[in-house]
Amino acid sequence: MQITDQHIAEQRATSLLRRYAGLAGEDLLRSMIEHEFPGRLAVVSSFGAESAVLLMLVAAVDPAVPVIFLDTGKHFAETLNYRDRLVHRLRLRDVRVSKPMPQDLIAADAQGDLWRCNPDHCCRLRKVLPLQRALTGFEAWITGRKRFAGGERAGLTVIEAVDGRIKINPLATWTPAQIAAAFTDAELPHHPLAAQGYPSIGCVPCTSQANGQPGAVRSGRWSGTDKTECGIHWPLNAEA
Ligand code: SF4
Repeated sequence: MQITDQHIAEQRATSLLRRYAGLAGEDLLRSMIEHEFPGRLAVVSSFGAESAVLLMLVAAVDPAVPVIFLDTGKHFAETLNYRDRLVHRLRLRDVRVSKPMPQDLIAADAQGDLWRCNPDHCCRLRKVLPLQRALTGFEAWITGRKRFAGGERAGLTVIEAVDGRIKINPLATWTPAQIAAAFTDAELPHHPLAAQGYPSIGCVPCTSQANGQPGAVRSGRWSGTDKTECGIHWPLNAEA
């Protein structure tokens, strides 16, 4: 049997899950950042409604951990301003902005409205491929996904192996109350749209206010369609 990067990553994930069983939040981050992947991991942030909590925890361990922001060209101005505010507040020292390739946009989205007819391809050009480029050279990456967001995230583990890399989800088991308490305790600023009914914030054309139902945190993302994820968390060869 051919041993692939994915096989190796899966074995590593199993070992890490065993070794760090029960850890989450800052404790898990410290182990990953300082002991398991020193200098070899990055955090990916949308600078959305809850992003400040993960970034605060990462910064508490090491504010020099690279932070990857996918600039799709379709973000709310409020998100870009909030990003700059958080970077300053948390003293993040290595924020890396990854953008779509101009030639990809010219070829497939010259009018900037690909999201209307083929949002999966739009997300691929504006998010998935820029993330893959930004992750080059990293063995692991940190995400802020939580189980309480539901859908595909309901069964999230704190450590996974995808495409030959380790993914660390230190907030997977956190509750909305824990997130809210972290904002209060650390006096973190909120995304300006959070108070206007946007508990999950992505690109302007594909984000609307949530429907207000309990647990429907992501109901305002691609609302009215079957799409629930942009695809950055799927294996590269997965069908959209
Ligand atoms: S969320 Fe919408 S605008 Fe943003 S990349 Fe995906 S389809 Fe395009």
